[in-house]
Amino acid sequence: MFGNLKYTFRGGTHVNEHKDTAGLQTVRLPEPATVSVPLSQHIGAHAKPVVQKGDTVAVGQVIGVVENGLGCPVHASVSGTVKEILTRHNAQGIPVQNVVIENDGLHTMSKDIKPWGKPLEETTTEEIVQIVRDAGISGLGGATFPTYAKIQSAVGKATSVIINCAECEPYITANHRLLLERSYAVIQGLEVLMHALNVKEGLLAVEDNKPDAIELLQKAVADKPNIRVCVMKTKYPQGDERQIVYALYHKEVPAGKLPADVGCMIINAETAAAISRAFYRGLPLVSRIVTVAGDCVKNPQNVRAPLGASYRELIDFCGGCVKEPKKLVSGGPMMGQAQWDMDAPVTNGTSALLVFSEEYDRINTEHSPCIHCGCCVQHCPMHLLPNYLAQYAQARRYDDAAKLDVMSCVECGTCSYNCPAGVQIVQYIRVAKGALRAKK
Ligand code: SF4
Ligand code: SF4
Repeated sequence: MFGNLKYTFRGGTHVNEHKDTAGLQTVRLPEPATVSVPLSQHIGAHAKPVVQKGDTVAVGQVIGVVENGLGCPVHASVSGTVKEILTRHNAQGIPVQNVVIENDGLHTMSKDIKPWGKPLEETTTEEIVQIVRDAGISGLGGATFPTYAKIQSAVGKATSVIINCAECEPYITANHRLLLERSYAVIQGLEVLMHALNVKEGLLAVEDNKPDAIELLQKAVADKPNIRVCVMKTKYPQGDERQIVYALYHKEVPAGKLPADVGCMIINAETAAAISRAFYRGLPLVSRIVTVAGDCVKNPQNVRAPLGASYRELIDFCGGCVKEPKKLVSGGPMMGQAQWDMDAPVTNGTSALLVFSEEYDRINTEHSPCIHCGCCVQHCPMHLLPNYLAQYAQARRYDDAAKLDVMSCVECGTCSYNCPAGVQIVQYIRVAKGALRAKK
């Protein structure tokens, strides 16, 4: 069906996919009684609240703004009354202000929501940047970089726009379902970006483990000569931006540079759909699709949830846990983060919630010494020496780790996954990177 050509990169690994939810329709979470919307959901400055306790808010109403620096506004995801503004720790352990809204169940939409009035062809780059910023859109693949700033940084540099539909992390199928259920929105978002950047080539980059989505996309773009579907080999971490650039163009993104510096603007599929909603319907980002899975979850599935709904509500909606949970992970099992609070809110970055029992928890704090097998070196997609990086980090020889380019590590976890000695290489590397950043 796809021909013989499959794009790929060097290194990487084949992981157990566990994509059991790929065949299930996305379902909508019934609106929670309250939501706790964090005023920081992306890389950059925290927003300041512009509402106070007792205010009535509507869906899509701005409740927080960033006055200076990198950042987007935050919007109410339900209508109702502001119950309180409190500080709670986010998924990374950083204290963030949250606006807690008591839902009135009316789903009253903000009067500020209206579609952009002009056709795409008559809209300028600056206007698209503003629309994307005002809609509060940041990378929904997990990186959460503000999308308006990504567009700005690619102006005059990008010669192609790539929609990242790889979804290479195990378990996560949110993008796969989105492609099957709303491919038109993803393609519209791509067209908006191509127009904003005055780019003539648009690519939909999909791993070959999604044959139904590939077929559907190929039909959908058959009459669009500037857009192609690129079928990539299923391999982890194919969804990493640098690996996509290499797979599609055989170009390396130099250390410290961005894909735009080699001519590529890359956006996650759900982010593209959010851009389409903002441009054509005026809707800000107030919900996202979350894959709820893991061996503990009774009915794993993809759930569209309002931002600010709690992890607990999503897991309960999926039937709760059928086994004693040992670990809750926000994001995929390779790059996600273990969580400690079931009542923490869903944010822009919550691509998945995975609940694992003891049986699936592979963390081994009592690992054996490195046996110098070279597996980690062989699989590292960034062509680093993970074994030495881990050893330098353990010995706190951070400057030596820096000389071996530790800062280029994308923390994909491929090295740890393949290490027969169970060395948690990526955890050591994170410590070294943190220490070097602090020193800088
Ligand atoms: S060293 Fe970094 S980039 Fe290389 S495999 Fe390990 S985590 Fe991935
Ligand atoms: S894979 Fe593990 S045991 Fe093998 S060289 Fe790397 S750190 Fe050492």
